[in-house]
Amino acid sequence: MSHYSIKCRKCGKVLEDSFCAFCEHCKDALLVTEYHDSRFMESGAAGVWRFNWLPVHGPSSVQPGPLVYRSQGLAGHLGLEQLFIAFNGYWPEKGALLETCTFKEFEAAVVLQNARENGVAGLIVASAGNTARAFAHLSTVTGFPVVIVVPRMCLSEMWYLESSSPVPTLAVGDGDYSDSIDVAKRIALVTGFPFEGGVKNIAKRDGLGIVMLEAVSKIGKLPDHYVQAVGSGTGAIGAWEMAERFIRDGRFGDRLPKLHLGQNLPFAPMLHAWEKGSRSLFPEDLNPELIGHITTRVLSTRYPAYSVQGGVFDALTAAGGEMYGVENEAVYAGMKDFLATEGIDLVPASGVAVAVLKDAVRKGAIGKNDAVLLNITGGGEARLRKDKQTHTVMPQFISKNATEKEIEELLCHDKKKSS
Ligand SMILES: [Zn+2]
Repeated sequence: MSHYSIKCRKCGKVLEDSFCAFCEHCKDALLVTEYHDSRFMESGAAGVWRFNWLPVHGPSSVQPGPLVYRSQGLAGHLGLEQLFIAFNGYWPEKGALLETCTFKEFEAAVVLQNARENGVAGLIVASAGNTARAFAHLSTVTGFPVVIVVPRMCLSEMWYLESSSPVPTLAVGDGDYSDSIDVAKRIALVTGFPFEGGVKNIAKRDGLGIVMLEAVSKIGKLPDHYVQAVGSGTGAIGAWEMAERFIRDGRFGDRLPKLHLGQNLPFAPMLHAWEKGSRSLFPEDLNPELIGHITTRVLSTRYPAYSVQGGVFDALTAAGGEMYGVENEAVYAGMKDFLATEGIDLVPASGVAVAVLKDAVRKGAIGKNDAVLLNITGGGEARLRKDKQTHTVMPQFISKNATEKEIEELLCHDKKKSS
């Protein structure tokens, strides 16, 4: 028997066949995993598979978790007594061993294992960069087929761990991240492999929620505040859902961590909607031209999980959260501060999170004695390059308007090339 069921957040219906689905009644409500064991437990297994609140049964791969530690450097700099950092990246001296340098590795590990256990033969993944790297790596490690679709504008910042990766990668030459999602859905129809489902995939949210599992395991309680940069918001929703499980458990606190979520200005659709108290995003905030002005392309989706039932709007409402807008200059300053005080390089999205923390402390939204969890979603890329060779991605190019026939020809060509 499975140790979990999947339930609609809105109407409470438990669904049987629920791989990447919405509730059949509610349409606009996220399904959530309900673990039959409401007590948080850790087995003796290595890495992340020791947690009981993951939607997998028998993973065979080894997956290291986040490094969670109590900060001295940045904490001292900001005058915080209890700053805990979840570092997701490569920093072997400290015990951080994610070679893809991103927390998306947890998402990929849990999604691929969950898909395999659901009888899925392969997946189509759309990404703005870091998700592609994580899925390409774990596809290679676990032998589970994936096809990856990325926007051309993100290629300059993309790299893979494996050389001449056997993972087919298609770059959308004439579109952005959101166009890549549209193309990925069409490829899913042609190949018969499902689209990984974005925020709808419970394995994706629970996988990203590993950061909260590791943090509570280390800290012994829920933090008062949770700080993260958001693009789709899936990671923040995952953290919120895990926090709810800890509250039901009852041993780790009775208050949801307050969410402090940041976007990179001028592309900040969730910030602007939240400031106006709106569940709907405004079309003028989703203008693709704005994306050209931000330094954090991984935060550039025009389809964030904000309005959906159980999405970012509801998470912020339930947890008493706030949204922050961060200018490029402040992103770079955040990266510099972290390197100077903690001693490791960050990716720009993590610079957004550091800037949010600084802003929240400055305006008194976070108190000196509060327990804070700062989610550093990616870092250590410069550190990794001292130890390992990384590889630029050599994709096949595809148009956002590609026909089914063109898609078939491209994938066929790709198969020939790799065999
Ligand atoms: Zn429902």
